Amino acid sequence: EERLRAVRDRVRSFPDFPVPGVLFRDISPLLKDPVAFKALIDLLEDHLRASFPKIDVIAGLDSRGFLIGPPLAQRLGVGFVLIRKKGKLPGPTESISYALEYGKAELEIQSDAVEAGQKVVVVDDLLATGGTMRAACELLARLKADILECLVVIELKALRGAAKLEAIPFHSLLQYD
Ligand code: 5GP
Repeated sequence: EERLRAVRDRVRSFPDFPVPGVLFRDISPLLKDPVAFKALIDLLEDHLRASFPKIDVIAGLDSRGFLIGPPLAQRLGVGFVLIRKKGKLPGPTESISYALEYGKAELEIQSDAVEAGQKVVVVDDLLATGGTMRAACELLARLKADILECLVVIELKALRGAAKLEAIPFHSLLQYD
């Protein structure tokens, strides 16, 4: 499909970033091109409208999930909530530490970000090992959210991140080996 090609054409790759052996997929050209970025949000909106009759909240992952989540939430007429790296959010929070593709990190969500039973879609730019997305889902589960789906632009298939999400539904627009 043409919109998907417009998106794929605006993802570029950098070998050995941020550490040797990692091929980093960079979405900067996608954000910089208004036609391709609109195509991206259109595709994500179409997917969610076709998949779920009701969504209450879009949750975005620090930091590129913050670029994709808010325009998508606006399209759907729903709210957006932040899942951030540790130490950035005021007030009562839930936090979780997890292993990264390269390193270790901790995520947080404000305790009042979602209400019990709210239907949430979690968005990020890319799924690698799945550790970040899994940790985010754990935070949302602690708040008793109903996680409809984890949604990313790019899935790095070889790292088998989707398997780490176990029973949580997952969808990616683009897949790389
Ligand atoms: P994971 O926890 O699945 O191993 O890593 C995914 C997280 O790291 C996402 O938040 C994503 O933004 C970031 N990440 C890891 N590798 C890449 C990459 O090659 N390109 C981009 N854009 N983000 C990456």
